Amino acid sequence: MEIANTINQFYSKFPSPIKIYGQRFFNRIPNAFIYGGSYRQLRASLENSQHCSKDEIRAKQFSELKRIISEYYAKSRFYSRFYAKHGFSPEHLKDWSDIEKIPLIDKSIVRTQTRNLSIPLPFREIVFLSHTGGTSSPMFFPETMKARIFERAFVDRFYSWHGLDEEEPKVTLKGIGMMPGQSWFYSPFLKSTVLPFLEISIEQLKKYAPVIQRIKPKAFVFSYPSLVYSYARAIKKGFVPKPASIKMIFCSSEVMLPYQREEIEEVFGIVPVNYYGQNEKVSLIQECPYHESHVIPEYGITEILDQENKHVTEEGQIGEIVGTGFLNRAFLLIRYKTEDFAIKGPDRACPCGLPYDRVINIEGRSGDFLRTDNGIFLSPAMLEFTVDHMSHITDIQLVQTSIHQVNILLCPDVDFEEKDAEELVMELRKRTKDRIKFELKIVDSIARPLNAKKRLIISELDQSASDFFET
Ligand SMILES: [Zn+2]
Repeated sequence: MEIANTINQFYSKFPSPIKIYGQRFFNRIPNAFIYGGSYRQLRASLENSQHCSKDEIRAKQFSELKRIISEYYAKSRFYSRFYAKHGFSPEHLKDWSDIEKIPLIDKSIVRTQTRNLSIPLPFREIVFLSHTGGTSSPMFFPETMKARIFERAFVDRFYSWHGLDEEEPKVTLKGIGMMPGQSWFYSPFLKSTVLPFLEISIEQLKKYAPVIQRIKPKAFVFSYPSLVYSYARAIKKGFVPKPASIKMIFCSSEVMLPYQREEIEEVFGIVPVNYYGQNEKVSLIQECPYHESHVIPEYGITEILDQENKHVTEEGQIGEIVGTGFLNRAFLLIRYKTEDFAIKGPDRACPCGLPYDRVINIEGRSGDFLRTDNGIFLSPAMLEFTVDHMSHITDIQLVQTSIHQVNILLCPDVDFEEKDAEELVMELRKRTKDRIKFELKIVDSIARPLNAKKRLIISELDQSASDFFET
């Protein structure tokens, strides 16, 4: 990630015309050429597998599961000990129903066992450092170059379902941190121009509007729903022009709330498309052209488990997303609890013809907006970036009680020190331009609703759409 940030920073300093012509040029180089044989092979195999039967897909998944379990049982110090402790061994996997015998792992295991979990790979495999998401301290883990290339193949097939060509100009509205002096940049990996937002404000949207007008993007891709929504609000209020070139909107990283979807549809005249994944690459859920969310089985095994860790069986039942990723050979997470939730969809076939299971709704990063009296909004995912990089925190929640007051509930871990808290409050004050008083409360635990996603921000202020940009 550090390398990627440095590259992005470097790109962002180029003059605008170079960035604009650069992206037009780079977009035209096919991914099949850039990423080589393993990308082409996977693309071809994904084209075929989307026409397989459910049974064929399941059989392939099961043999892949058996293969990775055997490999990791033999080579990973963590898995061999952990499975032995729970009385599980690879021979217990005889058919699909045995999957429930495999012990579950969670974020705390990944946090404490990173070294033991990973396995050594041949030298030719290039490995990066990636990190977990969520509202506790992040954990860095190895990720192969191939895993990133494979992920591209899944994204490109997804675009093809919706008629978006990889060559077309694209823009990404993302809540990511910026270094001083950094501005928007073209990401060759996403093949998209990234407009970073530290916060949502009219000034920021107005600054980016001319860039969008010049790039003439066919689509917003990998964009935060909260940012596309705020862009729609700004268009409606006449602060920025509506980009006529936009024909598709692909959102990810946050849950799209119903009022956001409505506003986006009304202003752009486009039904947005959702994409769900995690940095850990264990589960992928993509929307088809009929706006049904499909679980992508070639990417990994996605299970939805109830509170007793049993598979939900009825349509409409909610459960936690538990994923087993197939992509990252250096660090495979097997039956990993994502702390995100989904509702089981209908078993009947989807009109799109894809043989993939459906979910109805996903609860990932969610919560209210934090806001200041001078018109700044911060979405949970945007603030998670701040919280993610703090040390020694096991859980956190921000409760906004008035426009000038936020209470921070914080569960520390054993290594927590006063300076961690000071650092956090300082960062939050910076992000809210010193308009909010933060009061820190150290707590043992934070009450969470059962069977639902943790909410980072709870706001007692009016969150309705009519309030946005009217302070
Ligand atoms: Zn479908």
